[in-house]
Amino acid sequence: MNFENTKEAYRLKTNSELHRALYLYRLIANNTLVTIGSKVALWALQLGLPISGVFKHTVFKQFCAGTAKEDSIKLVHRLADLNVKSYMHFAAEGQKTEAGMEYSLKKTLETLSFSKDSGALPFTVFKATSLGPFALFEKKSAGIEFNESELAAWDRMLKRIQKCCNYAQKLNVRMLIDAEESWVQDAIDEIAEGLMEEYNREQTLIFTTVQMYRKDRLSYLEYLLQKAEKKGFTIGIKLVRGAYIEKENKRAQNRGIPSPICESKKATDRNFDAGLDLILPKVDRCNLFIGSHSESSILKVTQWMKAHQLPNNHPTVWFSQLYGMADHISFNLASSGYQVVKYVPYGPVKEVIPYLIRRAEENTSVSGQTPRELDLIRKEITRRKLKEVAY
Ligand SMILES: Cc1cc2nc3c(=O)[nH]c(=O)nc-3n(C[C@H](O)[C@H](O)[C@H](O)COP(=O)(O)OP(=O)(O)OC[C@H]3O[C@@H](n4cnc5c(N)ncnc54)[C@H](O)[C@@H]3O)c2cc1C
Repeated sequence: MNFENTKEAYRLKTNSELHRALYLYRLIANNTLVTIGSKVALWALQLGLPISGVFKHTVFKQFCAGTAKEDSIKLVHRLADLNVKSYMHFAAEGQKTEAGMEYSLKKTLETLSFSKDSGALPFTVFKATSLGPFALFEKKSAGIEFNESELAAWDRMLKRIQKCCNYAQKLNVRMLIDAEESWVQDAIDEIAEGLMEEYNREQTLIFTTVQMYRKDRLSYLEYLLQKAEKKGFTIGIKLVRGAYIEKENKRAQNRGIPSPICESKKATDRNFDAGLDLILPKVDRCNLFIGSHSESSILKVTQWMKAHQLPNNHPTVWFSQLYGMADHISFNLASSGYQVVKYVPYGPVKEVIPYLIRRAEENTSVSGQTPRELDLIRKEITRRKLKEVAY
């Protein structure tokens, strides 16, 4: 694999899109600007101030497909032409009311319906806490019993999830379940395991997410693999490092309890590698969906596949990156025939601002990635100038 091939990496981008990406990554490389800017933006959002315009022409264009399904589908087809598949997500977050949860359900079903008849959209996704009250996931995970009205709300959430999975099965689209904060994850795991047992018989339809920055996840993976073998179902695993590190550590510190997160980035990396070592030899019964922007993690998988004579397009191994990030990984993998799926969020600018802020924050706090993005974008701009390539 050659991730340095910028011609391949930025095939989708016009010259002006490339310059916009350069400008944007330069901005978000500035920690102070992003920290202050995020706080101001969230505050302005709460006050209902008109800030969408600032986002629309900057981060939105870089990290989102569009405001409506029509623009997003166009992008999905452009990606598919370059052998990169997609999974779309209506990225409005923080639905707290019953009406909001019904809205999330409607949007998940709508997104699923675009996948119908489109080989370009082999997956879809949901976040369990967007379909039910966060507090109930927390209670359930802590083993606290529900009262009558809570039981009814929990039941409504389970029915929403079941509706999504039934529709996914009908359309033959795989369903990813996102992983969230550790204090709600036990309840999500229980639901995901139940769904895999129910749906993953003839094919692997349901994929759970395992966050390897958690110290306990390697033993959880072992448990999951054994359970699937014993009960005769297949498992789909989205393997990620984990996105809530600051929140997790802060909560543990405030409560005076040990953090569930590995003590260092190195320890997370070791855990992630150990997860891959566990899954890869079992790729016949376990579908791997690696969600990562780490070149070394991706290379570990491609090298393993090569050493074990698995074809690049092996049907149970998927690579995934977020739209607007790590294109050098996605497009170079795709041009070598690997199965690549971009996470493609869409939605009205105002509603996806929290998602956009997280992307900007992630790009400052995750050391190493932004300088790498900047370096590659500059390299491609120079290459095009030298070649006088017209895009
Ligand atoms: C397609 C896709 C789907 C995703 N879905 C989810 C999801 O459902 N749930 C979720 O939580 N995240 C999800 N993520 C985000 C993911 O968990 C990571 O936060 C992000 O991808 C960065 O990790 P990396 O492997 O790409 O890169 P790297 O740069 O190699 O790793 C950065 C990650 O390492 C870990 N880390 C950094 N510093 C430390 C430290 N000091 N101690 C311990 N660990 C540390 C953190 O997890 C950090 O995010 C997804 C990512 C992708 C690409």
